[in-house]
Amino acid sequence: MSETKIELIQGDITQAAVDAIVNAANSSLMGGGGVDGAIHRAAGPSLHEECMRIAQELKDIPGGPCPAGEAVITGAGMLPCKNVIHTVGPVWQGGGRGERELLAGCYRKSLLLAAGRALKVIAFPNISTGVYGYPKREAASVALETVWECLEKRPQIEKVIFVCFDHENFQIYREMLGVV
Ligand code: ADP
Repeated sequence: MSETKIELIQGDITQAAVDAIVNAANSSLMGGGGVDGAIHRAAGPSLHEECMRIAQELKDIPGGPCPAGEAVITGAGMLPCKNVIHTVGPVWQGGGRGERELLAGCYRKSLLLAAGRALKVIAFPNISTGVYGYPKREAASVALETVWECLEKRPQIEKVIFVCFDHENFQIYREMLGVV
């Protein structure tokens, strides 16, 4: 069952030695604050260089290089994981601007990229719940529903780890996963 493929930890995603960690990037792919900054700092300059090359290739995409809800994959520089999947969450604007579907797209596209490369263990941060202001409880329900659905469709993915950095997100996921 898909539920048993979901794991929850509280911590720093840069330390996850998995097939891919997901970055809550911004649409420029040029790095930023929060988890994005932490990933780029820990990965070193090669990650930035690879992101710059991809951004150049995708520069004509509207809302791009990587629009909200989309994802791209790179190597991982000095990180202990093998790949980084950069996805761009929606900025919360009250909920009436398609935020839910865009956030679901982040999880869906990231897992699609992972499955396409036969990656089996993927770690996600709580996309959009920092600077982008998505309400944490709503974001967690979108994340869990979408990941469950994807795991059902793609049995080759062995594990999805939600890495919660802040205690509030960790508690919300614990509750929703029934591990209170
Ligand atoms: P966004 O712009 O998508 O909101 P942020 O990086 O501001 O992205 O925040 C997304 C989530 O990432 C937040 O819940 C924040 O607590 C979390 N976060 C910040 N640093 C790390 C880290 N090193 N590992 C895992 N999660 C992190």
